[in-house]
Amino acid sequence: MKTVGIVGAGVVGACVAFHLAQRGVHVHCVERARPGGLTTDVSFARLSAYQQSTYTRFELSHTGMFEHARLADRFDAAPWWHPTGGVAWSDGTGGRGASFAEEVDRLDAWGYRVVRADAARANREWEPGVVFPHSRVPVVRFPDEGWIDGPLLVAALIRAAEGSGYLTMWRGAVEDVEVRDGRVVALRLANQDRLAVDAVVNAAGPDTASVAATLGGLALTGTSTRSSLVVDLKTDGDPVRHVLRGAEAHVRSAGPGRVRVRSEQVDALLPAGPRSHAERDLVDNLVERAHRTLPALSSAVLDQARVGTATFPADGLPSVGALSALSGYYEAFANSGITLAPFIGRTLATQITTGEVHPLWSQCSPDRLRVAS
Ligand SMILES: Cc1cc2nc3c(=O)[nH]c(=O)nc-3n(C[C@H](O)[C@H](O)[C@H](O)COP(=O)(O)OP(=O)(O)OC[C@H]3O[C@@H](n4cnc5c(N)ncnc54)[C@H](O)[C@@H]3O)c2cc1C
Repeated sequence: MKTVGIVGAGVVGACVAFHLAQRGVHVHCVERARPGGLTTDVSFARLSAYQQSTYTRFELSHTGMFEHARLADRFDAAPWWHPTGGVAWSDGTGGRGASFAEEVDRLDAWGYRVVRADAARANREWEPGVVFPHSRVPVVRFPDEGWIDGPLLVAALIRAAEGSGYLTMWRGAVEDVEVRDGRVVALRLANQDRLAVDAVVNAAGPDTASVAATLGGLALTGTSTRSSLVVDLKTDGDPVRHVLRGAEAHVRSAGPGRVRVRSEQVDALLPAGPRSHAERDLVDNLVERAHRTLPALSSAVLDQARVGTATFPADGLPSVGALSALSGYYEAFANSGITLAPFIGRTLATQITTGEVHPLWSQCSPDRLRVAS
């Protein structure tokens, strides 16, 4: 494989570009806006295998978490990678409490590192600033969790790949994947540029389907979306050490003097349909939940409030690999894309260069997302 085109420089496209360039493959990566500036930027960006409902999905995410360490090892410094561990608790009442205990037991059984404690120990040893619902609430630390600064990771990957001489970045929108005699031959850009390629990786995130639609009868079907309100606060000092999965809100550092917050309860109140901004009362609701979780945040200042929408295959598994009906077309499109991106990048680069498919992708073929037409 001599030249590969990549559509999109989010975290997934950038990881694939980096790993291809490492192997001496020439890459044209086309990004219509700021690299890492779409879903990757608004993401909560936690490295976690929590809430993966099947063993296959859990193993993918668990593997993805550790792949971040392997990727970081390739760099002299990895300022995007924050292996802080996670701390989780439930409100200890009713159904959510029961499902939390079951989730933790299941993770434990699957080999996830789990440290159990009560609120007093959690305050003493892990998170002095958190207010737990009551003293007997079960608290769990997941030592292998963490978070990623997505845009910083994307920038580092692109810089390294460009420095190797194998990556060329193009600013523009891919309008068409050109196919001749049953194989991909070029990308056509909105500005009329034509980039000759031997293969393409569709890593367009929420626009994966519109890029795939240019392939005619091979349009992508069976996708889902989920929206989440994400608020960044400017803080005095750094009041949180772990990625918190609290009963009321999820909170993590977002770098010195900043935290990022989201909440499943607030997300459930978001109106249906894609949007980039939330109503003020929902933002207030989220910020109050953050204050109740970590009272030190009461003096924090609202920096930005955005609604991010994740798009992914409806069966919850990624779409990673080659489309068998079209030579040279690959897809890289996933839920939990931050956690999975380095693993996707390394293994998809292997598939593109050697034809070998990693066994963990056996249920993730893009073929399953096509209906015969
Ligand atoms: C609120 C929220 C919270 C999340 N929390 C987590 C989490 O805690 N942990 C986790 O692992 N995952 C999380 N996710 C999911 C994760 O963020 C995404 O799966 C991941 O960022 C997707 O990366 P991507 O590179 O596929 O897409 P994107 O980051 O969207 O990148 C796609 C890129 O393609 C470009 N593009 C699109 N079409 C074209 C075109 N035609 N031509 C040129 N360029 C194009 C876009 O401009 C964009 O830059 C969350 C998502 C959201 C929205």
